[in-house]
Amino acid sequence: MNLNITAYSTALFSTWINIEELGLLFDAGDGVTSGLLQKSGKIKHVFITHPDRDHITGLFQLNQLNTRKGYPKIYYPKHSGSFPAMRDFQHKFDPHIQGATWHELEHLDTISIRNDLFVEAIRNEHIEAPQGISKSLSFKLFQTKQKLRKEFTHLDGKNIKDLIKIKGRDALMETINTNILSYAGDTPVDDYSTWDHSEILIHESTFLQDQEGMIVKSSSNKNKHSKLNEVLQMVSEITVGKLILNHFSSRYSKQEIDANVIKLCKAYNLKIPVHVIYPGEIHRDILNTRPIYE
Ligand SMILES: [Zn+2]
Repeated sequence: MNLNITAYSTALFSTWINIEELGLLFDAGDGVTSGLLQKSGKIKHVFITHPDRDHITGLFQLNQLNTRKGYPKIYYPKHSGSFPAMRDFQHKFDPHIQGATWHELEHLDTISIRNDLFVEAIRNEHIEAPQGISKSLSFKLFQTKQKLRKEFTHLDGKNIKDLIKIKGRDALMETINTNILSYAGDTPVDDYSTWDHSEILIHESTFLQDQEGMIVKSSSNKNKHSKLNEVLQMVSEITVGKLILNHFSSRYSKQEIDANVIKLCKAYNLKIPVHVIYPGEIHRDILNTRPIYE
């Protein structure tokens, strides 16, 4: 699937990722509505990874301008109290706006966004919490297809139809789920297998190298992030179709990011296109721009 992905992402300031044709938004940092203008009106499903301010403050304006009956649908980690507080505040602050709906998600919950598409929530370790408590999530987008089982592929159309009548659809067809896009959100590099077989992986890379404590100062400043070398090492050991790196710290220049990404992609011998979302820049239709490494 050729996805039109437009995104902004700078650690501490704002992150939002829009997939235009699917009416999908991952995170809703500052500037999402002003960055997308009328296109923000197409957003139907908003998946928020966690309540750090750089991922949520765009919600007020998005809701205010784009609410229509039942939409947008906003999904958030179940055990974060920030979202109900935000919902209640907005109900009071903008009482004329009643359309948006808020839905909690925990690890492995799935949400259908189209007949053949669903999003799965995956708990991550960005915010420390006991097992079973979902305060920070990653998301995986899957496409579902029905495929004829191998043992029946020699049959013609009429035979297949007849057999379905006798044996039932499930006996002849199998469901194939393809992970067409993964969005890691804010997270340390953790279990490689989570991202294996992602056709597109959007992964954070807050730091180019080891930093004191590996911390981005924020309202809750113990949260864990990823380093570029760890992300690229992981990607070199799993199967990923395309990589988009996001959430760089604004301390780095474009030149520094490019130099480090290219050097490490070569060192890990990556064979896939790698795109970068630079600090302070909106990237429009990023997959149709030239990758910095391929
Ligand atoms: Zn962040």
